[in-house]
Amino acid sequence: MRMSLKACRDCRALSNGPICPNCKSSSLSDDWSGLLVVLDPESSKIASMLNIKKSGRYAIKVR
Ligand SMILES: [Zn+2]
Repeated sequence: MRMSLKACRDCRALSNGPICPNCKSSSLSDDWSGLLVVLDPESSKIASMLNIKKSGRYAIKVR
């Protein structure tokens, strides 16, 4: 069985469960694109553009 990741509509964090691990939102979408791995959010320009403050895996676009 394939694991399907879902992206949080509120903070774009990727989750493989029903709740966002980052902001605890249950508003998750499986229609997302662009996997972004943030290791060091303070020195990542993309992370600051997307307003990401914690390391983790994120979607770039969530519909
Ligand atoms: Zn979230």
